[in-house]
Amino acid sequence: MSIEENLNDIEENLNEKKVVLVAVSKTKPVEDIQSAYDAGIRDFGENKVQEFMDKEPVLPKDIRWHLIGHLQRNKVKYIVGKIYLIHSLDSIRLLNELEKHYKSEKLIANTLIQINIGREENKTGIYVENLENLIEACETCTSVKVKGLMAVIPQGDEKSCRHYFKKMKSIFDELKKRKFNNISMDILSMGMTHDYKIAVEEGSTLVRIGEGIFGKRNYNK
Ligand SMILES: *Cc1c(COP(=O)(O)O)cnc(C)c1O
Repeated sequence: MSIEENLNDIEENLNEKKVVLVAVSKTKPVEDIQSAYDAGIRDFGENKVQEFMDKEPVLPKDIRWHLIGHLQRNKVKYIVGKIYLIHSLDSIRLLNELEKHYKSEKLIANTLIQINIGREENKTGIYVENLENLIEACETCTSVKVKGLMAVIPQGDEKSCRHYFKKMKSIFDELKKRKFNNISMDILSMGMTHDYKIAVEEGSTLVRIGEGIFGKRNYNK
C-alpha cells in the first residue's frame, strides 16, 4: 500500500477520537516525508538529532518536528528552537541543559517526561519513583515547559500492552489533578504501529506511527 493509503486507514481509526498522529520518519528518505506531507501530515517524529538536522533544512518549514529518541546533553545546542515537542525528557541533567540553552536564546522548550514504565534496562526514560524529583526541578525552570508524558512500553500481547497503557494513564490522571508551575498534563504520548488502537482505547492523546505509514525500516543501508 502507498503512504497515502496507509495514512487514510490510520486516520480512519483515529478521527473521531481527536488523537494526534505523529508520523515517525526515522531511517526514511525525505521523499517519503514529502509524500506524507502532501497527504496532509504536518507532525513528524525523528529519534536521532543528526538525522533530523540532515532532513529539516530541505523540507517544508511548517512541519512540526517531534524528537522521540533519547536526547544527549551535548546535542541540545543543535535543536534549540527547531523542535516542536521533545518527547524524551528523562533526567534533571538534561532538564538543566535545556533550560540553559533555551534561556540564552530566549525560547521555550516544550517537553514530555518519558517514563520507563516497564522498567526495562535497555530503554531510556525515568523510573516512576524518580518522577517527583524531576517534577520539582521542572517547577523551578523558566524556559522549559512540560506538556505531558510519553512511554515506550515493553513488547507483549494485548493484555500486557493494556496493562502498561493503563499504568501510564493513571499516572497522567493523578498528575493532572495537581497544580504545578510550568507543568500541565495535556499530552499522553503512547502507542506505535502494532499497539496504537489499544493505546487510544486506554487514553492516549498522541500516537507515534512509523512502519504502519512508511513500511518496514531497513537499518543495514
Ligand atoms: C520508532 C519509534 C516509533 C515508531 O515505531 P513503529 O513500530 O514503526 O510504529 C515510535 N516511538 C518511538 C520512540 C520510536 O523510536
